[in-house]
Amino acid sequence: MCGIVGYIGNNRADEILIEGLRKLEYRGYDSSGIALADAGKVKCIKTKGRIDVLAEKVGDGYADAVCGIGHTRWATHGEPSDRNSHPHTSCDGKVTLVHNGIIENYIKLKRELTEKGITFKSETDTECAVNLIAALYDGNPKDTLLRAMEMLTGSYAFAVIFSDHPYTLYAVKKDSPLILGVGEGENFIASDIPAILKWTRRYIVLNEGEIAEVKRDSIHIVDRHRNPINREIEHVEWNVGDAEKSGFPHFMLKEIFEQPSALKATISPRINNGKVNFSDEGLTAEIAERIETIHIVACGSALHTGIIGKTLIERLAGIPVDYEIASEFRYRDPIIKKNELVLLISQSGETADTLAALRLAKERGALTVAIVNVVGSSIAREADISLFTHAGPEIAVATTKAYSAQVAMMELLAIYFAQIKRTLPPERIAQLLNDLTSLPSQVENILPLYETSRELAEHISANAHVFFIGRGLDYCVAHEGSLKLKEISYIHSEAYAAGELKHGTISLVSTGTPVIAIATQRDVFDKMVSNIKEVKCRGAFVLLITRKGWYDESDSYADQVIELPEAESLFMPSLVAVICQILAYNTADIMGCDIDKPRNLAKSVTVE
Ligand code: GLU
Repeated sequence: MCGIVGYIGNNRADEILIEGLRKLEYRGYDSSGIALADAGKVKCIKTKGRIDVLAEKVGDGYADAVCGIGHTRWATHGEPSDRNSHPHTSCDGKVTLVHNGIIENYIKLKRELTEKGITFKSETDTECAVNLIAALYDGNPKDTLLRAMEMLTGSYAFAVIFSDHPYTLYAVKKDSPLILGVGEGENFIASDIPAILKWTRRYIVLNEGEIAEVKRDSIHIVDRHRNPINREIEHVEWNVGDAEKSGFPHFMLKEIFEQPSALKATISPRINNGKVNFSDEGLTAEIAERIETIHIVACGSALHTGIIGKTLIERLAGIPVDYEIASEFRYRDPIIKKNELVLLISQSGETADTLAALRLAKERGALTVAIVNVVGSSIAREADISLFTHAGPEIAVATTKAYSAQVAMMELLAIYFAQIKRTLPPERIAQLLNDLTSLPSQVENILPLYETSRELAEHISANAHVFFIGRGLDYCVAHEGSLKLKEISYIHSEAYAAGELKHGTISLVSTGTPVIAIATQRDVFDKMVSNIKEVKCRGAFVLLITRKGWYDESDSYADQVIELPEAESLFMPSLVAVICQILAYNTADIMGCDIDKPRNLAKSVTVE
């Protein structure tokens, strides 16, 4: 959360910073601001609201500045306001910085600094950090920052300018991501690659506790013990176009349509000669053979893929699996034994709670395997084994293609463990692999539903509450369907195990309440029909998502039916998820919501 940029070179810093912030707006959009070193002085321009408001405020008034820092905020401490916007400048005007993260000891620091006569202008935790740095400043920026780091607790990525060194930027990293873009006669600081991609494809990842001194022609990195670090420059593999809308009205819709290729890129390389292969990525047969228990830990949609993973791995490979919300796991003192596998799932690879859960699991001696979309991210670097989804950059805050690629990983892993543990006959494995290979084209075939489901979305948009119900795997995917709808349309939605609704929540069903009933599993289909009838006779508007030919029209318990093409039952969540995404998208679009940047949310949740 929060996007940071920094630029030093020969070109207009205001334009480069604002352009960079636009690319990071998915990380937060409560307010934005830039600080420019202009004629040897540091000037701040900041405002509540989106980057467009900032761009207007900046205008052409700073065309000569060639160095600066910028920020797009997802507020944690202090309401979104001009005053709380970053950059923040110390009370004495000596230090200006932007921050991503949370300073946890800010109350204590604020008290101590106030006693020293320092006054505060904002309600942010960040302002304590900038004033602490200024109070410690002895003319040596690097040394001062290292001393400040020893006194700050929490998470922080900073880009800092010292007024007496206006043409040098400092980047500081602890528990929030930060990269350095390496150009020709110009260098950059950013929270994420899209911010620098227009100008350079070369970057350096800053590691925990490191500080970088960034000048026009040089970058010097030191670790927390003041040792100089010589890190190799990496190259961005993907294109600028991957982070553009390419004619789609929203990133979310573009990313929904990219799912067939994301699935193919994730599935195909792992199937060779009729077998799933994760050995090349470090999860060898010997390691997999030893695993007897799996704990899946994740947040949000990634956790929902874990719920599917539990069902698939238990059913196919007979390994007991539990799943848990990362923010609970990390403070619960979980029982993890040596040789158990902790599977962490995160699109960005920077999710703060998942990263903390990973560290805890490692401390307890577990084998940690991460499923991550972003190569080079903190979780990918720290896990014992990293398995990458190949969904490509995902910009919309509401995940679609990254979620689907994570589900595909669960499908692959379940088959892999079954193969190694010999829990399925070879013919069944061959059949599953065949079906998994056809999944991208099956998803392709249901995408036209985007055009035909508008009317259904109209109906959903006219209601304040929606329920998703299902049993087994259908219940697993209902969680994601419900989250997708509520996060972008703001319609209250709940996912319920169909058999559980009658234990209380059915009291909320009244005339016209939309109930999206997912019924794609043969073994529980008849039970689902009974549950659907229970809501139907209480006035619900039932949208049934089922398999072709399963709905008996003469029994008219559904108001609308979406029929899915023939596919392996175990992989149905991959198809149902796409339908739910399309319904959520169309509903939010009809309601005029800000689909790519839903209120109060941000992608890449780097705070607790
Ligand atoms: N804690 C800082 C603020 O509220 C930064 C927030 C963040 O990085 O998400 O302004």
